[in-house]
Amino acid sequence: MGRRSTGGNGTSPGDNQNRIRPHLPVLEWSALLSYNGKLSLLKETAILDSKKLKESALAAVESLRADLHALSLKIHGSPELGFQETGAAGWLSGFLENQGFSVSRGICDMPTAFRASYGQGSPAIAVLAEYDALPKLGHACGHNLICTGSAGAAVASRGTVDECGGSIKVIGTPAEELYGGKIFLVERGAFADVDVAMMVHPGVIDAAATRFLACQTLDVEFFGKAAHAAAKPEEGVNALEAMLLSYAGINALRQHIRQSARIHGIITDGGEAPNIVPAHSAGSFIVRAEDDPYLIELEDRVMECFRGAAAATGARLEYRWGEGRYAPMRNNLALAKLFQNNMQSLGRNIYLHDPSRSYGSSDMGNVSQVVPAIHPSVAIAPRKVQLHSPEFAEAAASGAGQRGMEDAARAMAMTIVDLLSGPAGIEKVKAEFYRWKGEGQS
Ligand SMILES: [Zn+2]
Ligand SMILES: [Zn+2]
Repeated sequence: MGRRSTGGNGTSPGDNQNRIRPHLPVLEWSALLSYNGKLSLLKETAILDSKKLKESALAAVESLRADLHALSLKIHGSPELGFQETGAAGWLSGFLENQGFSVSRGICDMPTAFRASYGQGSPAIAVLAEYDALPKLGHACGHNLICTGSAGAAVASRGTVDECGGSIKVIGTPAEELYGGKIFLVERGAFADVDVAMMVHPGVIDAAATRFLACQTLDVEFFGKAAHAAAKPEEGVNALEAMLLSYAGINALRQHIRQSARIHGIITDGGEAPNIVPAHSAGSFIVRAEDDPYLIELEDRVMECFRGAAAATGARLEYRWGEGRYAPMRNNLALAKLFQNNMQSLGRNIYLHDPSRSYGSSDMGNVSQVVPAIHPSVAIAPRKVQLHSPEFAEAAASGAGQRGMEDAARAMAMTIVDLLSGPAGIEKVKAEFYRWKGEGQS
């Protein structure tokens, strides 16, 4: 696709003079489209206009490339854990402010969350920015590319907003990895005035619709009684045995649950010394399922494993389920198809549905329950490379990583053109969402 050289926001005075400018807010477009006499003329105008807007958006991404690369590498070089991302959140909001966005920092009582807005009112399209890293591995999930890709898409969409109305918001969403920051953003109303949300995650496959399981975390402790392990073992209550029995119970349970469900965990405390009966043990577990009802059923069955072990050993059980439950991802397929078409126009052979049997979870699932949303994957490494590995952390700073981030920005900016330049795209996306909501699925 041809790319014109334009200013940083993808427009220049010359462009504006030549552009076909219907200058109609989306609501007026809807009214006019229902008026038969205007229908074919307006359809043609919309197609022409969106093609030009996409060319401008692509040119804008081109002009932002060096800044986006530098920003993504800076964040990669200073990895910060969830809710501690002061550097990344500050650099991103500063970058967006310099590009004409109005920024609110520390939204929803989270110091490292932010919202950067350009334009006014509806339709409001949110591109989400994750920027947390992993303990010890740094940016082994490539979130440095997610946030810069979203920032690039938003800045490249200023021309679209100027022409078509509506608004673009970059929502800085902290702590995806460990705490599910978006769960709290959803609960605290960050998406109340958003019509559509999207973000692109780096991965090893190009796919517009990715699958995420509902997910709940569980911390467990057993309290027993210390004693000399050889001299007076009969006086002890072994908290480690309680944990090991629970682990064995979960292993037995795992054979008889749905294939897509997952239960996994680690033991974080198994005692102090081999000659002391362990008085305390602790573990962290995660339960995942394709839908909420099955997740709730599994939570009960997992708890029975712990309760049974407590009864068998006499150790006292304490447990805490995580504060927020990760919801399953509801992919908006109308939106995914727009994104897929735009990614294909960049020469990426992108699947609509991820064909791999990958069953992670993301707090984007919670966003997808309240607004139409997608969370596509863009390949930055060969399929044999695992996310959350040192190799993927390397890929997140590589040339392939930069190309993936740029294509994510381009495809999102073009999808935003599809959503704002005429009513057809966004109405289809919203209709699919409300149809699903009406059916009460989760
Ligand atoms: Zn991750
Ligand atoms: Zn991730």
